[in-house]
Amino acid sequence: MFGILEKLLLLQERDQKLQAFLHEINGVPGEKAALQKELDAAQRTLENDKARATQIEVERKRLEVEADGKRTQIAKYRTQQFETRKNEEFTALKHEIERAESDISTIEDRELDLMQEFEDLKPAIASAEQKYAAEKIRVSTLMKTADDKVGVLQGRADELRVERDAIAAEVRASDEDLLDLYEKLFRTKMGRAVVPLEGNHCSGCHMTVTPATLRDARVGASVVSCEQCGRIVYSLPE
Ligand SMILES: [Zn+2]
Repeated sequence: MFGILEKLLLLQERDQKLQAFLHEINGVPGEKAALQKELDAAQRTLENDKARATQIEVERKRLEVEADGKRTQIAKYRTQQFETRKNEEFTALKHEIERAESDISTIEDRELDLMQEFEDLKPAIASAEQKYAAEKIRVSTLMKTADDKVGVLQGRADELRVERDAIAAEVRASDEDLLDLYEKLFRTKMGRAVVPLEGNHCSGCHMTVTPATLRDARVGASVVSCEQCGRIVYSLPE
C-alpha cells in the first residue's frame, strides 16, 4: 500500500507542476494584450499630436483667407469713400473700415497663438515619435519573449503530461477507484488531493482526524481519507 501512496504523491507533484505551467501559459495572452495596450497608447499620443498640428495648419490657412477677405473689403470701402460726396456715407464707410481692421487684428492675434501652439507642439511630436519607436522595440521584444516562454512552457507541459499519464496508468492498474478519487480531489481541492497529517490534524482542512484514521495512516497499510474534507492523508515518517 505504501507503494501506491508514493505513486499518488508523485502523480500529484507532476499534476501540480503541470497546473502551474498551464496557469502561466494561460496568463500570456493577457500579458501580451497589456503590452499591446501600452503600445497603442503611445501611438495614440503621437497621432493626436500630429492631428492637432494638421488642424492648426488648416485653421491658419482659413484665418489667412478670412483676413485677405477683410483686406479686400477695406480696399473696396476706401474706393467708395473716395467716390462718395455724402458725409454720412463717408463716415459710415470709415466705421466699416475700422471694424474690418479690428477684425483683422483679432485674426492676427489668433494666428500668432496658433503659431506658438504649433512651435510648442513640435518638440512634443518629436518626443512622442521617439517614445513610440522605443515602445515598438520594447513591446516586440517582450512579445517575442512571451511567445518563447509559451513555447518552453508548452514543451515542459507536454512532457509532464506524458509523465503523469504514465503514473496515472500505474495507479489505475492497481486501483481504478483510487485514481478516480484522486482526480476528483485534485480538481475540487485546489490541487491538493493527498496531504500529510500534521500531528493529529489534516494539513488540507486543518481539522483533527479520528484516532482510528491517525493510527491507520501511521500503519500505512491502506489509503486513508480525512473524515472532514475527504482528502487522502498520510503520516510523515517520524
Ligand atoms: Zn481534511
